[in-house]
Amino acid sequence: MPTGRYAPSPTGTFHIGNLRTAVAAWLFARSTGGEFLLRWEDLDDTADPRHEAGQLSDLAALGIDFDGPPVRQSSRRDAYREIIDDLTARGLTYPCWCSRREILGATAAPHGTPGSYPGTCRELTRRRRAALEASGRAPALRLRTDLEDVEIVDTLHGSVRRRMDDIVLRRGDGTPAYNLVVVVDDEFQGVRQVVRGDDLLDSTPRHAYLQRLLGFAEPVWSHIPLVVDEQGERLSKRDGSAGLETWCALGGTIHDLLAGIARTLGIEGSEPTLRAMADGFDPDAVPREPATFSTDGPELSLRR
Ligand code: GLU
Repeated sequence: MPTGRYAPSPTGTFHIGNLRTAVAAWLFARSTGGEFLLRWEDLDDTADPRHEAGQLSDLAALGIDFDGPPVRQSSRRDAYREIIDDLTARGLTYPCWCSRREILGATAAPHGTPGSYPGTCRELTRRRRAALEASGRAPALRLRTDLEDVEIVDTLHGSVRRRMDDIVLRRGDGTPAYNLVVVVDDEFQGVRQVVRGDDLLDSTPRHAYLQRLLGFAEPVWSHIPLVVDEQGERLSKRDGSAGLETWCALGGTIHDLLAGIARTLGIEGSEPTLRAMADGFDPDAVPREPATFSTDGPELSLRR
């Protein structure tokens, strides 16, 4: 029985896509009798308790329940610091002064993941490093990786291979980076099944690399295709894409939403309740294409 989790960032109101992914993650765990845990990814400056309350109420409205109290990343800074210190003691980190713009402007490695780090600060001359240290700009801390290909296997997408790059462990402002904390916390919470949006698929080999390096268990990965709008654009929490309130304002009920989610997750003929959906859920039947949210309806359909 795998332990699953949902790990929202309380940085806005959930959109329909977030809710569908939460339902999918719950179904993957509960349909096999697994535990389901909550984690607040609240390290971002824009995390806000009011968003947490709204997100919790949306999840409860759909019937999503969790085991035990949530883990809150903002209370786990010591744990992240220890891991970073340990990697540093192993000689596996280095400071990096590059700005985002400099990285995007540099020629990317031929097999790299888009936006991957070209290695500018990896081998600095002593002079250059002294100049950067004197600049007063606070450096990020990067992991010195082997720069080799990493392969993961996803239950929906199959084998995914990406060239490893030197990922950020701690940002210049001192905040531990998502790619690190997600791995540390999945291990801490005993998560063995990661179900999340497929916008994170490209980063998953990085997570597997860290798990192997730190001696952590690698969970089973399932990346769910996202929900897009009628123009084919991904819904976005920050842009305030349509959520439960809009759904209801368009005349939709919670049952309609669950029925739409069931349909777009490949569940046939079940009552639109989470329990019934769990009985009819087949992880292999989850479609590989995105779902479309239509405001004519309200409606969720598959985009083919
Ligand atoms: N916090 C991320 C989000 O809200 C999810 C990260 C994850 O599931 O690993 O999209």
